[in-house]
Amino acid sequence: MHRTLKPCTTCGKVWTLESELIDTVYPSRRDNTTGEFCQWTVVCQLHNTGCGRAVYGVTKEDAVECWNRGKTHETSRF
Ligand SMILES: [Zn+2]
Repeated sequence: MHRTLKPCTTCGKVWTLESELIDTVYPSRRDNTTGEFCQWTVVCQLHNTGCGRAVYGVTKEDAVECWNRGKTHETSRF
């Protein structure tokens, strides 16, 4: 990963475990025409003791940067 994920600004959860990161930062949408990923999600997964805060970006770096800046686009309940 290029950028390090800062602790969640909402709940303070620290995301460093590789096993948890797989679920935390992932591509969430693929462009039907080019086949490239066009949306990435960073989510503070409830099942990993997070708060459900979700942040989206066009690229992985974009999503991580939004996350690190403390943005919240959605709060997941699952
Ligand atoms: Zn959180």
